[in-house]
Amino acid sequence: MAGKSTPMMEQYHALKREAEGCLLFYRMGDFFELFFDDARQAAAILDIALTTRGEHGGEAVPMCGVPAHSAEGYLARLIKAGCRVAIAEQVETPEEAKKRGGSKALVRRDIVRFVTAGTLTEEALLEPRRANMLVAVCELRGTIGIAAVDISTGRMELEECAADRLGAALARLGPSEVVAPEDWDARPTEAIERARQDFASDGGEARLKAVHGVATLDGFGTFTRPMLAAAGGLLAYLDHAGRGTMPLLLPPVARESDSAMAMDEATRASLEILEAQRGGRQGSLIAAIDRCATGAGARQLADDLSAPLTDRGAIEARLALVGWLHADPLLRADLREVLRALPDIGRALGRIVAGRGSPRDLGQVRDGLAEARRIRDHLQGKPDRPALLERLLPAMGGHGALVDLLQRALVPAPPTERQNGGFIAEGYDAALDELRQTSGNARRAIAALEGRYREDTGIAALKIKHNGVLGYFIEVPAKHADALMASDSGFTHRQTMAGAVRFNSLGLHEEAARIAEAGGHALAAEEAHFEDLTAAVIDAREAIAATAAALARLDVAAGNAERAAEGDWCRPEILEDRCLEIAGGRHPVVEQALAKGGERFVANDCRLDDQDRLWLIGGPNMGGKSTFLRQNALIVLLAQAGCFVPAASARIGLVDRLFSRVGASDNLARGRSTFMVEMVETAAILSQATERSFVILDEVGRGTSTYDGLALAWAVVEAVHETNRCRCLFATHYHELSRLAETCEALSLHHVRAREWKGDLVLLHELAEGPADRSYGLAVARLAGVPDAVVARAKSVLDRLEKGRAETGGLAAGLGDLPLFAAASAAEEEQCDTLRERLRELDVDALSPRDALDALYALKQDAASTEP
Ligand code: ADP
Repeated sequence: MAGKSTPMMEQYHALKREAEGCLLFYRMGDFFELFFDDARQAAAILDIALTTRGEHGGEAVPMCGVPAHSAEGYLARLIKAGCRVAIAEQVETPEEAKKRGGSKALVRRDIVRFVTAGTLTEEALLEPRRANMLVAVCELRGTIGIAAVDISTGRMELEECAADRLGAALARLGPSEVVAPEDWDARPTEAIERARQDFASDGGEARLKAVHGVATLDGFGTFTRPMLAAAGGLLAYLDHAGRGTMPLLLPPVARESDSAMAMDEATRASLEILEAQRGGRQGSLIAAIDRCATGAGARQLADDLSAPLTDRGAIEARLALVGWLHADPLLRADLREVLRALPDIGRALGRIVAGRGSPRDLGQVRDGLAEARRIRDHLQGKPDRPALLERLLPAMGGHGALVDLLQRALVPAPPTERQNGGFIAEGYDAALDELRQTSGNARRAIAALEGRYREDTGIAALKIKHNGVLGYFIEVPAKHADALMASDSGFTHRQTMAGAVRFNSLGLHEEAARIAEAGGHALAAEEAHFEDLTAAVIDAREAIAATAAALARLDVAAGNAERAAEGDWCRPEILEDRCLEIAGGRHPVVEQALAKGGERFVANDCRLDDQDRLWLIGGPNMGGKSTFLRQNALIVLLAQAGCFVPAASARIGLVDRLFSRVGASDNLARGRSTFMVEMVETAAILSQATERSFVILDEVGRGTSTYDGLALAWAVVEAVHETNRCRCLFATHYHELSRLAETCEALSLHHVRAREWKGDLVLLHELAEGPADRSYGLAVARLAGVPDAVVARAKSVLDRLEKGRAETGGLAAGLGDLPLFAAASAAEEEQCDTLRERLRELDVDALSPRDALDALYALKQDAASTEP
């Protein structure tokens, strides 16, 4: 990079422009180098040395590099840190460059691939238990089109939704990368901008047809214009990222917008379904229930939990399979053991189709398919097979010819590298066997030569060795070298080392040439077989993907059955009405956390129906209110995802939408105040919850002043009760809300129990009927370690306040008028009038100071005595 504008720098800048904002990995010999800002950024993320190389515009050019052979690990870290990387390889050898353009010619380089979070297939860069979604979104006449693909397995889904549901849809998909048209104002903030013309529905349709080699998409389903437009954007991006090589893509599936239970982003976050709120899988629902034996199973489970079903038949089908495996522990144990040893054939297939497959991937496909068939044969012999299993079994077989081919062709454990050959089995190709025999013979001949030369020369320390530079050579210690140096010795000198001298001989040269020639031919033969085997696998890609999917579904069911057996969970009953009857319900995550500390979780019942659909739950902080709320939401979610549930029994009327607003979520980072977030989320619930929805609301109104908070909580409960008419659990610390029970007929009062014992508070975590008798804030404060003096002071303040409340009727005085009696009571009016009358009669100017004070006291006393 010396001087002003060297050819190399010109080439670099041209590639950098093509990289469109990605970091550029510029191949130089054995390294990928990064320059300028790329270098600064990468060096910081990777914690590697930042150096300089030459100068540009009078300034040293920052540079850093990573070895090409270990680039994958560095790529993984850059991708994790949110970078995208363009890989520029040398596409000709230095010799070719010289031949083309003389001795100073620059080696040609090209971007061969973009590595981005959504377009990974490498095993090392992917998390085995998580899908890796790339999503394209666009808007067409007010409707959002969404195309999503996991290119590591080829699964592709198209859907459309209303503009206000985009956030929820993206939350469900949890994409690693999103692309959207560049000129679309409402595009998701994290989206990568792509050309508008990529997102055209006819273009998308044409691309889909071309990828799948079909004349019409009708065989795959019905796709709307917005779906196809999004698909167009997605495929164009994949084409760009792979520089023309398309990854594995299975036929697209149209997702119906109401086939899944709707959950918005806030609900997903607050229920901690796939991720805990503090980040990471630990502490999440999936971490507490995942007993899948395979990565593919875990990915399917995550998918199930992200999109619980709303079709009773489909839910029952999953539950029946779980139940069948639950009832037979031996079968389940056998099956899980076999599954555990299964390779991830879905992802191996993904790499093979993307042109990045290895002999090992072919071996994985072979082993996975062979094992799938054995599992099928085993299960087929079992009685009372549930319907879902009957649907899965056929997909697990049918690969006989391919498995046979791969078994004959490949060695038992093929290597990950294919350059060095050695993966084609003996006996598959006679010509290859012969080549190998030739080089084997030559090797043996060389070993024999060593013995003969030792005898001939009398040098016992003579050795025949091999290295990458010289090939085969004869080596003797320096003190014996003279004898071999003689011109008639039959040896020719090649290299003198400290302490040793190296020679060649005609005999050795001949055998070595034989090895090299046969080796070269053998490598070429293996390479050709590799291409053929890869093509055979690609031909069967849809059937292989179907096998992978069937195995994953089976694994999920076996894992769920295992979890249920472990925790004594039950099979929920799914109904079409609006009940929610859970006996002995538990929170799977909290229960597990308590168990670690040797504590017991207190199971609680929940019983909602048309007549009693809103439970108002009071009681002390830390009493278990939000745990109870969440556990019931999680039980609904698990049930509709087709899992057994942590309860003694559960009857669940199908829920169309689930809403959860528990605790002020940490949205502060986005620049909204806690209270604002709370209100936005509450507004979403009030506008979207239907009679079939289930809502949990915790401490609405906590983020503002007491009066505001109580007023809002009051109004929200009324609205949920009167307008949304959904099933709802509402936790609150406002005692005043219990008065709503007088006017809302389908609302009932409950509380979490606590007891004071010898001055200490004992939280029983037990739900009971009726309003909370009192609040235990001070006792909780003491429990939390607030100093005694502060608690004592708070106690005296509280006494004052409570006295005031007794005198004034409290915070909710007057709320008895709402919502039924709008007019103030006549008695109060009257009292008010007499006071007003007396005030009017006072002649202020005529009063002495002393009289004025007396009059004021008298008025005050009257007013106090008439207070209700
Ligand atoms: P609240 O919402 O009433 O303030 P939480 O639901 O946050 O209370 O519960 C506080 C703590 O009490 C939890 O972290 C858990 O350790 C414990 N807890 C809650 N429910 C139970 C239960 N049913 N059994 C045992 N411990 C519980």
